Amino acid sequence: MALPKRRHSRARGRKRRTHWTITPLNVIECSHCHEFRLPHHICPACGYYDGRQVLSKKEEA
Ligand SMILES: [Zn+2]
Repeated sequence: MALPKRRHSRARGRKRRTHWTITPLNVIECSHCHEFRLPHHICPACGYYDGRQVLSKKEEA
């Protein structure tokens, strides 16, 4: 394995890590059950999307 000749400075390592920031999760309220869900996703609580039931919950379990 190749070894680095010089150690990177603290500033260089920190500069690289400036892009490590996490974006806060964008959650919206479900129009059917008013539970929080991700936009453009089926609601995990009631299985509704675009005003109709897409996933049947608890019926098959
Ligand atoms: Zn819902």
